[in-house]
Amino acid sequence: MKEQSLKVAVIGAGMAGLLAARELKREGHRVIVFEKTSRLGGTWVYDPRVETDPLGLDPSRKIVHSSMYSSLRVNLPRRLMGFLDYPFLKKQDGDTREFPGHREVLRYLEDFARDFWLVELIRFEHEVVRVERVNGVSHEWIVEWRTREGESEEEEVFEAVIVCNGHHTEPRIAEFPVLYYATGMDTWPGVQIHSHNYRTPEPFKNKIVVLIGNGPSAHDILREISSVAKEVHQALRASDVHFKKLENRNNIWQHPVIERTDEDGKVIFQDGSFVCADIIIHCTGYKYHFPFLRTNGIVNVDDNCVGPLYKHVFPPYLAPWLSFVGLPYRAVPTLIIELQSRWLAKVLSGKLALPCEEEMASSVEELYQHMNESGRPKHHTHQLQQNKFDYENWLVNQLGLPPLEDWREQLYFYALKKIPSDAGDDYRDWDTWDINQWIQE
Ligand code: FAD
Repeated sequence: MKEQSLKVAVIGAGMAGLLAARELKREGHRVIVFEKTSRLGGTWVYDPRVETDPLGLDPSRKIVHSSMYSSLRVNLPRRLMGFLDYPFLKKQDGDTREFPGHREVLRYLEDFARDFWLVELIRFEHEVVRVERVNGVSHEWIVEWRTREGESEEEEVFEAVIVCNGHHTEPRIAEFPVLYYATGMDTWPGVQIHSHNYRTPEPFKNKIVVLIGNGPSAHDILREISSVAKEVHQALRASDVHFKKLENRNNIWQHPVIERTDEDGKVIFQDGSFVCADIIIHCTGYKYHFPFLRTNGIVNVDDNCVGPLYKHVFPPYLAPWLSFVGLPYRAVPTLIIELQSRWLAKVLSGKLALPCEEEMASSVEELYQHMNESGRPKHHTHQLQQNKFDYENWLVNQLGLPPLEDWREQLYFYALKKIPSDAGDDYRDWDTWDINQWIQE
């Protein structure tokens, strides 16, 4: 491909959309960012509202985009969250903690957008409702949107589309890992919410709560609600879990997964332990969801894996004209998002080449096969926690950048080990975070 400047649509002005826009702009492409809300920052824009269906099962509910809870602080040190050439620095008038709160991340993104002149590329209150190839031609895409006020629908043709719509709005409830219907939760009489709709602990005061999940949000929410709730019972999927009260905590118990729920309010766990609960909170993660995307089955979401995608970015038979940024999760996605953006911008401008379609498709097949052989379900495809650095280094290599500094990996795994598996003190406040010991500038 010879070097070229394309007309590119970016869907979403969260972290992924902003980084993609910056890299595309740097490569000389003509960029328009469509953002359905009136602000940039995506999930980092805290919204105190919750959805009309707190479990997120009703497809016609009014969606609140952000999943932030009021007290949220980043779960890994800010040094790991900053962009390569735009560090997440402490500002005197800001939140100077090593693990700052969500407002500080939003401010960082706002500063970034201002400093790189990205705001003028964004069409706010433009919700994309359809992305489809023009007459099956892969490098001509119709992007159709509606604006909030008039709800009018308009469309425009682009040469490439980058999907950056985030993936924290569609709760995973009714399928694995929570057998919502099979365990009778659909007729359970208590209150149920998904962590997407958790904001503050007050509604849990003096309640008996069952919390399902074991991810970073589950730990935060467990710690927070246990300070006001009467009892909190955490249901976990790990194989070595058995019923126990947590040491040094007088109101938290751990259980294996839920076996069934009864119409009298009882929640029965797999080991036979049970509790009569008031509230179940599902901290069970999210589903990928692209309601606007029409590719005639070329890209699908199957068992919560978006595919086929070469290196989590390009669908082999639509590359490079359609791409996805930010799908990997549980991985501090920031650097991944930045490297993916740089890669795709250079591929679109013709400075970097992709393998042929067949080669990309067989690389994806190999990945699926490898996962299958090692007993990993397909829905773990984009979960890069352990392989994060292999993936980042692969992208760095493609881009011809110097290898990533060793401190990144060391600090990441050090921090992961510190995240407690119970509801102890907040590891973020420990003063052992002498981050400088990791960095040789
Ligand atoms: P989003 O931030 O969700 O942005 C997507 C944007 O697309 C939104 O602005 C949305 O309005 C817009 N949009 C969606 N659909 C459309 C449409 N049809 N048309 C137009 N616009 C649309 N990461 C970390 O690195 N550290 C952390 O500590 C951390 N903590 C987290 C805690 C929580 C509770 C959550 C939910 C996530 C956390 N993350 C964390 C991950 C976080 O998601 C990423 O850091 C990053 O912000 C993802 O950016 P994104 O642009 O992919 O998605």
